[in-house]
Amino acid sequence: MSEPKIIDGKAFAAGLRDRIATEVAKLKEENGITPGLAVVLVGEDPASQVYVRSKGKQTVEAGMQSFEYKMPETTSQEELLAKVEELNNDPAVNGILVQLPLPKQIDEQAVLAAIDPAKDVDGFHTTNVGLLGTGSDNGLVPCTPLGCIMLLRDHFDGNLSGKKAVVIGRSNIVGKPMFNLLLKESCTVTVAHSRTQDLPGEVRQADIVVAAVGRPEMVKGDWLKDGAVVIDVGINRIDKPEGGTRLVGDVDFASACERASAITPVPGGVGPMTIAVLLANTVTAACQQNGIAVPK
Ligand code: NDP
Repeated sequence: MSEPKIIDGKAFAAGLRDRIATEVAKLKEENGITPGLAVVLVGEDPASQVYVRSKGKQTVEAGMQSFEYKMPETTSQEELLAKVEELNNDPAVNGILVQLPLPKQIDEQAVLAAIDPAKDVDGFHTTNVGLLGTGSDNGLVPCTPLGCIMLLRDHFDGNLSGKKAVVIGRSNIVGKPMFNLLLKESCTVTVAHSRTQDLPGEVRQADIVVAAVGRPEMVKGDWLKDGAVVIDVGINRIDKPEGGTRLVGDVDFASACERASAITPVPGGVGPMTIAVLLANTVTAACQQNGIAVPK
């Protein structure tokens, strides 16, 4: 095989953010609406702090309002639910994101269920899960899988119909919504997981492989069909032999490049898409709440 196309998620995300900034300016001018995103962070998890800072910065850069709420590690479930309720009722807030994971004393599902589905820009509320599962366009879709679909639609010029896809991983935040999105695009989809009997055999059938496993470089190049398009969702930090660490995906990039026709790198592939899609979801939510057509 010749060298695969490297799917540049960083550049795609930058273009998406530009388009969002244009839409936001238009919403302000034509409708007097400035979309607002509220992010709630409970506790001191360093990775979560980095994500939340980055989300706030990119929200403001897109011309939207960013509301950040930092709550102590000892926050009770009642206190967090009260904050969610306050944000549900705040008309300046169009999108609410409660940063996961939450401290142990808090029931994550109860918090996700308390978010107004119309403001659920993470798309984790069962109402939005159900809307996606029934093929509706009226809900909000989880950011990472929606970002993967955007990259795939761009690669295939909008037509994924009839492709065979394998999604490795069945989590609620990536694998399952990815399955539904690919099905909506009329792919024939297999979802593999830790109990799948012959994973390389399943992968070998696929025109599109989406790896969302959380295991460094698990998917090997010789598992792939020639010309497969590979979307690597994994973000794994591994030790370098010479000391220090580096990020790798769930796919063994070097060997995958020998078979794939296109592949997302890690870093710089799916990762940068997630926050850009979060901003897009906030614009979608603001439009849906105000009865305005959602920008394409
Ligand atoms: P989870 O741990 O929730 O799910 C992992 C899935 O992989 C499970 O369904 C599990 O199967 C399956 N799995 C585990 N081991 C194997 C195996 N040996 N063979 C086949 N399947 C296996 O992870 P997430 O979905 O939350 O995340 C997956 C990856 O994506 C991680 O690396 C994470 O860091 C990354 N990620 C990246 C994001 C981004 O912004 N780019 C956002 C979210 C996640 P089972 O259900 O049977 O246990």
